Parts: sequence; structure tokens; C-alpha cells
Amino acid sequence: MQFIETRGNDGSRLAKINFSDAILNPSASYGGLYVPESLPVLDSDFLEKHLDSHYKTLAADFLQAFEIDIDSLTIAKALDRYDAFDDPSNPVPLKQIEKDCFVSELYHGQTRAFKDMALQPFGYILSRLAQERNENYLIMAATSGDTGPATLETFKNQPNIKVACLYPDGGTSDVQRLQMVTEEGENLKVIGLKGNFDDAQSSLKALLASQDFRDELKRRDIKLSAANSVNFGRIIFQIIYHIHSYLELVRQKAVSLGDPVYMVVPSGNFGNALGAYYAKKAGLPIKKILIASNINNILADWINTGVYDMTDRTLIQTESPAMDILKSSNIERVMFDKFGPGRTKELLESLDKEGKFQLTPDELESLREDFDATFSSDEEGEAIIAAYAEKGYIMDPHTATCLKAYHKLREEKLPTVIYSTAEWTKFSTTVARALGHPAKSDLDALKWVSEHAGVTVPDMISGLFEKPIRHSVVVDKNSIKEEMLKFL
Ligand SMILES: *Cc1c(COP(=O)(O)O)cnc(C)c1O
Repeated sequence: MQFIETRGNDGSRLAKINFSDAILNPSASYGGLYVPESLPVLDSDFLEKHLDSHYKTLAADFLQAFEIDIDSLTIAKALDRYDAFDDPSNPVPLKQIEKDCFVSELYHGQTRAFKDMALQPFGYILSRLAQERNENYLIMAATSGDTGPATLETFKNQPNIKVACLYPDGGTSDVQRLQMVTEEGENLKVIGLKGNFDDAQSSLKALLASQDFRDELKRRDIKLSAANSVNFGRIIFQIIYHIHSYLELVRQKAVSLGDPVYMVVPSGNFGNALGAYYAKKAGLPIKKILIASNINNILADWINTGVYDMTDRTLIQTESPAMDILKSSNIERVMFDKFGPGRTKELLESLDKEGKFQLTPDELESLREDFDATFSSDEEGEAIIAAYAEKGYIMDPHTATCLKAYHKLREEKLPTVIYSTAEWTKFSTTVARALGHPAKSDLDALKWVSEHAGVTVPDMISGLFEKPIRHSVVVDKNSIKEEMLKFL
């Protein structure tokens, strides 16, 4: 399987590249993203074959059908990373919370957010490729709290890779910050920034654009890669759990093989939703993908009106910070798939230059064949958390946004999968407040919720409060380069 560019090819680079090149160097020549030329087929034979498969068996077979240039031993070892999840026999449990509402819990990995699902195997593969090529890579990430811990965790002590993570000091939960600043590994650097997530992102962008930093990297023979969902190496692993969740519905006798279902995805950069879209396109019987946003509802507006407009918006901090986003990268891949490279280039350039773009009525209709969307305020989210806690299910504020989409958007009463993208323990003060306890700290909230609701806090979270702090650097944006050079 070869990979091509969403905004077409300008003739100065290869028109088609392999998976390994697409993931080592994810920035395409035209400012676009890499996408597969075609997708494997998820027909009833494939699904039937995997009705009783282990997650890893399904994943290996799917990746083989993708015909990527990664050998099967490397793939097998990458997938072994799922053995460290809570239940190695079923890393992604599906739990019923309503008659036809099932929660697919994507957070049972090391850092308790769904980012582990893709970053764990991806991290292994990237490091292997770097070793085979005898190359060294630097991965830099600005994080609002979930990507950072998951990126550090997957690459710690992996040969030929260095990771630097920039987080807004005071802008993450205590647990998220501790996950980063206590992380061990000589190849890791964590920098707190005086500022918010926007500042962290723009500082990172400025650093990566600065010529003398690039010259320094070159002198040290270090190449840049990326581990965000712009990298297709993450997306490919985010198709698999949608297939798995569907098969779980069949196993739990909620549907017969072939019956349509809804999937509800709490979305930010649209990587998770894109995985569902590719699964649907490949043949998984998904009636529609329902997108849940918070009050930064630019995605919901786009899917409802066809207008994507950043000009009259500023980013609002919410209790679901992983969805606080204005520029959602992966919609580009959906547009490429539906409208082709020329139109994608036109629309995205309009977004870059004017801060907005608008689909035609036909294009909007095509988008709405696969997607619908709505959004929740923090208050609505807290009410949902409280209501489902009453029924005995504790969820995090990102997952809570899915319930409004579930109640409001379904045109038919079909079985529905909602994706739980983080464990409540990462956002415990919000959950405690929703349940009536204004906690002073994460430690207080974790203790209160676990006693009040009878849920356990896993060791990797409770243990954080005793681990030594290894990264205590907090700087303003002018000192980032200096910190980075010291590290390199
Ligand atoms: C990253 C993240 C999201 C958003 O996922 P995208 O793939 O960027 O749309 C939602 N919830 C949580 C908890 C996350 O960490």
C-alpha cells in the first residue's frame, strides 16, 4: 500500500511513498497530510473470521490486509504492547450502560487515555525503523495533558528516539502533570511553560520553524518526526478498535453480523473519528458517526452548516480540554477522500489565509451521509456525569459529551457505541464536583470519588503522588530553545 498527499503533489517530491516513510517524515510537500491510496476491505468474511479473535489477532490481520512495509515480527512485537493493558485478554472492554448504549473503554493502557491505543504500538514501530536505518529522531509535542504522557510512555528508553514535551504549567490536571514530570528515561525531556496550551503550541511551532534550531539538529544529525494524529502511523491503529467494538456488539448479541450501528466519538483533532470513517468506508456496518464536541463547537458547526470559521472564535478552556481545539487537522483527510486533492487544497488554503471555508450544499450533503454532530457545555457534561453515576457508571468529562449526541442525534433506535477516551482518574476534580464534592486537589478528588462511588484508582495513578519529580523545569517561551539545546 502506497501513500499519497491530500493536497496533491507539486512534482518536487515522490508522488507515492511507503508507510514507513510516511510515518518517519509525516510532513508532506504541499503542506498536506499522507493518506493511503486505498483501504483494505472489511467484508462479512473478514468480520466473520474474527468473531472470536483476540484484539491482537484482529489487529495483525487488519494490518496485513493494509500491506504496509513493516515486517510481521515487528508488527507482532508492537501489538504485544497491549499485553500491558489492564486485561491482556481484552484490552478494550465494551460495557452496556443503557438498553442500546454501549461504552467502548479505550483507556485501559498505561496513561489512562485513548492515546495509548495508537501510541503504544506506533512507538515501538517508529523506534525499530529508526534503528534499522541507523537514524536518530526527535519528537516534540505540545500537550494539553493526554498526548504528552502517552508519547513519553511509549518512547521511554527506546533506542534512536528522543522526545521533548511542552506542557502549559497550571493548565493540566495534577495527575497529567505528574505523569509527565515523574517519567523516567534518559531520552525524555519535559518542559513546563509559563502560559496556556495555545502558547505551548505556538512556541513549539516557532521553535520548529527557526533556522538556527534546524541547523543545530542537522549538526547533531537528528531528524524531526511527529507523534500527533497528523502522523498516519497513529490513525492506522485507530481504525482497529472500531472493528473490535463492532465485533464485541455481535459477541454480546446486541446485533447480528451486518446490522447497522451508530458510533459516537468525542472529537478534537478528529483522529479518532477519522478511524471510524475509514472503518465505515472499508465496509464496517456503521449507520453514522456522531461527533461530540464541547463549546468549542467548530466541528459541530461545520458538520451541521458546512461552514468552518475560526475568525469569530477564541479558544475557550473547558472541562474537556482534549477537545479544546479550533483547527482540527484530520478533517483534511475526510475532505480529500470525499472531494479530491484540488478541492481540498482550495478549502484548506482558504482556511490558512482567511481563517474560514465553506462547503457547497452537495459537499455538505455528502459529509452528512457519514457524520452528524452536536456539542455539550461543561454544565451539561457534569449533569450527565452525575446522572450516570446514579446508575452506577462513572465517566470522565470527554466521555460525557457523547451522551448528549446519543440522546439527541440518533434517527433510528440502533445499538450505539460511545467511546470513552479517558478514565475518570485523569479528570477527578471535575468528576468530584459533578457528584457534589468541590475537591481542592486531584488527591482529594481521587480519594473522595473512589470512596463515594466505590470505584478503584489504579496503581499507576495513585503511585504518581509518591514518585520522585524528575523534570522540574518551568520556563517562559524565550528559554525553550536553550533548554532544548541542553537536552540534545
Ligand atoms: C485526544 C483526546 C480526544 C480527542 O481525540 P481526537 O482524535 O483528537 O479527536 C478526546 N478525548 C480525550 C480524553 C483525548 O485525550
